[in-house]
Amino acid sequence: MKKLPNILSLIAGFLILLLSVYGFFLLQQRAGLPAEIKRAVEENRLIQIDDTRVEKKADIEFILSRRSTGDPAAFYIRTDEGIKRIQGSLIAYYSQYPFPIIYLVIGSFCIIMAFVVFILRPQELRARLFYWCALAFSFASIVNGGFFCLQEEWFSYLPGILFYIFYPLSLALLLHFSLTFVRLKKKSLFFLLYIPTFLIAMIWDYLFLKASLTSSLQAFRQYQSVVFLHRFYVIVYVLISLFVLILSHKKSDLEEQKAQIKWILYGLIFGAGPFILLYQLPKALIQKPFITEEIAGVFFIFIPVAFAFSIIRFKLMNIELIINRSVVYAILTIFTVSIYLLSVQVIHTLFSKSLGIQQGVVTVIAVLAAAAAFHPARKKIQDFVDRSFFRLSYDYQKSILSFNERAHRMARTEHLVNFFLVKMNRTIPLEYMGVIVHSSKTAEPEVFIQKGGERNLDILRSNFLGKARILAKRKSVQTELGIDFSAEDWMRENNLDLIISMPFRSMELTGFLALGKKKSGARYSSDDIELLLTMSETLALNLERIRLLEEVVYERAEKIKFDELSRLKTEFISNVSHEIRTPMSSIQGMSEILQQGKIKDKEKQAELLNLMTDECSRLSRFLHNILDYGKIEQRVKSYAFQKTDIRSIIEQVLKMFDYRLRSLAFLVQKHIPQKPVLLNIDPDAIHQALTNLIDNAIKYSYPKREISIRIIEKSQEVDIQVQDKGIGIPEKEQTKIFSAFYRMSEPQNVATKGVGLGLSIVKHIMEAHGGEIRVHSKKGEGSTFVLIFPRS
Ligand code: ADP
Repeated sequence: MKKLPNILSLIAGFLILLLSVYGFFLLQQRAGLPAEIKRAVEENRLIQIDDTRVEKKADIEFILSRRSTGDPAAFYIRTDEGIKRIQGSLIAYYSQYPFPIIYLVIGSFCIIMAFVVFILRPQELRARLFYWCALAFSFASIVNGGFFCLQEEWFSYLPGILFYIFYPLSLALLLHFSLTFVRLKKKSLFFLLYIPTFLIAMIWDYLFLKASLTSSLQAFRQYQSVVFLHRFYVIVYVLISLFVLILSHKKSDLEEQKAQIKWILYGLIFGAGPFILLYQLPKALIQKPFITEEIAGVFFIFIPVAFAFSIIRFKLMNIELIINRSVVYAILTIFTVSIYLLSVQVIHTLFSKSLGIQQGVVTVIAVLAAAAAFHPARKKIQDFVDRSFFRLSYDYQKSILSFNERAHRMARTEHLVNFFLVKMNRTIPLEYMGVIVHSSKTAEPEVFIQKGGERNLDILRSNFLGKARILAKRKSVQTELGIDFSAEDWMRENNLDLIISMPFRSMELTGFLALGKKKSGARYSSDDIELLLTMSETLALNLERIRLLEEVVYERAEKIKFDELSRLKTEFISNVSHEIRTPMSSIQGMSEILQQGKIKDKEKQAELLNLMTDECSRLSRFLHNILDYGKIEQRVKSYAFQKTDIRSIIEQVLKMFDYRLRSLAFLVQKHIPQKPVLLNIDPDAIHQALTNLIDNAIKYSYPKREISIRIIEKSQEVDIQVQDKGIGIPEKEQTKIFSAFYRMSEPQNVATKGVGLGLSIVKHIMEAHGGEIRVHSKKGEGSTFVLIFPRS
């Protein structure tokens, strides 16, 4: 790291600052001639001051160089009556106008900028050149010259010595600075432009010291001729700098750089223009300037102002300064208020004197007039400041904030990306915009909604993965900073202006934003790119968050599913074995009793046989259901439809359950029409469906044992209702009971055995008939299952 040189540069800068302050104090004491003597000088009548003869006007500067304000002096003036000696004392040189203060303001502004720039960008050549150039320039403008107020002490010579180095040096540095905007090959030859600077500085310092130390007027006059030479040097260097800047402004195809150079040019033209055109040039050519050097110097204020604009607004030297809006407004308000007060004062003096109106009235009118004039002006200035410095970044900041806020709360990838695209498009309207995200877990990339047509974004990953964060076409961006232009040809072919890779933290995800032209036709500015970078970062962050969330949810769901399955499996096996074992063992028991011949009573024998048949049919029903479920699962269950009187099926089923219903003392009610009810059905399947429903009605009916069966004929459909007054089904369970293997977890239900297949088979059968099954039930009050057959 070049830390030491940087620190040394800063220390040197600081010393220069101290010396310029010292020079400023010396300048304050600069001695000038009293007014009447000045008049004599104008008329070429001053011939001697004390014992030094004045041959040229310029000699006066030398004669006064060691004097201070207030020193006595004898002036010899040629008059009509002969030479007249006037005894007087020297007055302050800048008695009328506060020039040193103005120079101090200009210089300080430059020095502050120099330090800020150097501290922020010490590694950039352009910034270092600016630092030295601004220091040299401000020193030269604050100190103003070498011959003012020299004293006995040796250090009073220091500002002068440095002045004669820094004045020419500031111009060489300016030229060097301007050359950094041009792409030149032979950069090593740049030292050549410092040779004239070096020569002038050496000769000047030599003559300055010789003249002031030996009090040699001769040496001072030689020094004056170098001043003359220096004038040409100034003109040539400034003109070449201007030429170089204009050329690079023309050649640059980066809008941001163009704007930077434009503001530097404004600074030089308006700042140094009057000094060159109205002072230096006429002085060199016709020895008479149009304006005084002091007034020309006032225009220098434009130089630092324009540079500041270039630095702050257009990021000259890549400096991004964040200015507090309220500070700018405060300065603006102070500025406006002072102008306001000034105008009130002006109006007041003008009118109260010329019109002789009463003081108070004038004041009121003045205040009103100034307020009326300044309100729009203030708004305009504020608007200008807003537009120039804040508007864009303010808008962008707002978009980023609102995107951040919503993005954090989004739980779906599609919604997030969609919102991103909408938000982006609202902030920077684009012709095309696409987002592509790849996850190494899935083979297929996820291409999200592409605005402005489909494009093959898949290629992006294979071409640009691991490359720069920003890829662009040179012509589509205003800045070059941090941008890779190596894919220009490919981007042109694919009609893309900008590609931004998304900064995912996990290695698993990669993604790109692919952007077409801006609808406005303008290039992407560094503000636009900044916005895209920030928004893409937020997008990436939230995409990762959502993915993580999905993974957790998915894993949890998987686990729940797995647990549920293994629970159902165990339950199913235990239920099946119970369903088979119970009838089997009762059949076995009863057949053993019959075999032993212990029961002689015919009636009892018949009852046992009935019971055995009942158990057998229960077993067969059960096996039927299981086999059917297998068929349904494998989608091989077939149906044979035929016109059938549904009443007969009901009768068969009831007959099948007759023994059980009677032995359990069920009250059975039938509401069946007299006439046949013909339906196009598969009689076996509907037999099975009704069996399952009545089986359930018996199983789940306690303590009240009532079953009613109804056929309701409607114009479009025929309903068959199986109603019980049993335990009922709570509402939240009513949709679940039709799923395979589902059994209610109610305590009464657990006691009744079953495998949870009956209703799911009924549902399937009804769907195959183009009908449906519905349930109406209330816990504790019984249930009504309705089979609905459409009339075909
Ligand atoms: P299973 O009766 O073998 O458990 P089903 O599919 O026939 O299986 O019934 C599913 C569940 O629906 C039963 O476990 C029971 O909780 C409930 N259910 C069915 N019919 C009735 C009914 N008539 N009254 C109360 N609950 C019933």
